[in-house]
Amino acid sequence: MELLASLERRLAQLDEQHLRRRRRIAETPCAPHVTVDGRPMLAFCSNDYLGLAAHPRIVQALREGALRYGAGSGASHLISGHSRAHALLEEKLAGCMAPHIGEADALSFCTGYMANLAILTALAGTDGEIFSEALNHASLIDGARLSRAAVQVYPHGDTATLQRLLAASKAATKLVVTDSVFSMDGDIAPLHALAALCERHGAWLVIDDAHGFGVLGKHGRGVLEHLGLSSPHIVYMGTLGKAAGVGGAFVAAHRTVIDWLVQRARPYIYTTAAPPALAHALLESLELMGGDEGMERRAHLRSLVGELKNRLRLQRWTLFASETAIQPIIVGDNRVVLRAAAHLQEQGIWVPAIRPPTVPAGTARLRVTLSASHTHDDVARLADALNAMEREIAE
Ligand SMILES: *Cc1c(COP(=O)(O)O)cnc(C)c1O
Repeated sequence: MELLASLERRLAQLDEQHLRRRRRIAETPCAPHVTVDGRPMLAFCSNDYLGLAAHPRIVQALREGALRYGAGSGASHLISGHSRAHALLEEKLAGCMAPHIGEADALSFCTGYMANLAILTALAGTDGEIFSEALNHASLIDGARLSRAAVQVYPHGDTATLQRLLAASKAATKLVVTDSVFSMDGDIAPLHALAALCERHGAWLVIDDAHGFGVLGKHGRGVLEHLGLSSPHIVYMGTLGKAAGVGGAFVAAHRTVIDWLVQRARPYIYTTAAPPALAHALLESLELMGGDEGMERRAHLRSLVGELKNRLRLQRWTLFASETAIQPIIVGDNRVVLRAAAHLQEQGIWVPAIRPPTVPAGTARLRVTLSASHTHDDVARLADALNAMEREIAE
């Protein structure tokens, strides 16, 4: 069949470019020490930054949630799937974000991908204009496309260009859209400057804090707490499957914005509500994150980041300047990065090789992510392996 032959040719092309992806099968819970494809590995891959994904208290809450609410929600939120657990979760999240948004309300979503599609499509239409940071996550890019608004991409961190674009815009609705912590680089967007621009030009500031919520800020409330930022223009998206360790996402914004999303956001309306048991488990996760244990876990994570920086002695490759749990090592070439990842794998260390189109061509990298459940010995083992390997692997 010609249809299949065409796909097979394209798959073969991916092979030639070293861009073919394959999935590994994890047999054990998400943790630093896992069994993958039947082998024990030390993993630096997950976004489980606080090590909560398999935390006994959260697992127990999930169990209780299932006993109380059953397995599934049975319908979308606007029909009959909106449970007490979802309502309590939203109330708690709104409380977390209230110091930074003002008259804040929160809305929970099945995934961060859907939350981003919801924000962009509900707030921007054909008369809107979206100003999108160049390194934004794919879900923001897709949301911008789906909204049918005009889209301007501004260079990474370039507030001067953004200012010119905003000043020139005649759009009825303007949205500045950015990751807070960039998922493949680990650096933080200049959010104070962006908020000031949005206030001056009457634009919404959409912040995707997938890698900040739970990790940044004294109480783990994310990038807004970390930077001490508040603005009525902020539409905040936090994910609940990374540091929070469970799954799903939420949007926090002025209650009028949240009301509008409930009325109009198709990725909210036309999908079955997440199982209430997940929301119930998330209540426990938020409790942990905001308490002493959360604070200890964040402090430990910061000390691991310092440990990695101190121990790495790289000559040709570069460790990105990042203070967050995302510590990418830029290798450059797709083939070399694959060889490096395979080499680590042989030593029982699992670090993902990230290649285009996830990152720009020529910047293939080992994306190391640290978690509060790593030990200093785990990080030392990784650093030693990387130092030795860089010398061994020919370009
Ligand atoms: C992971 C991620 C998302 C998507 O969140 P999911 O809950 O996994 O769908 C959105 N934005 C960024 C920056 C992410 O890293």
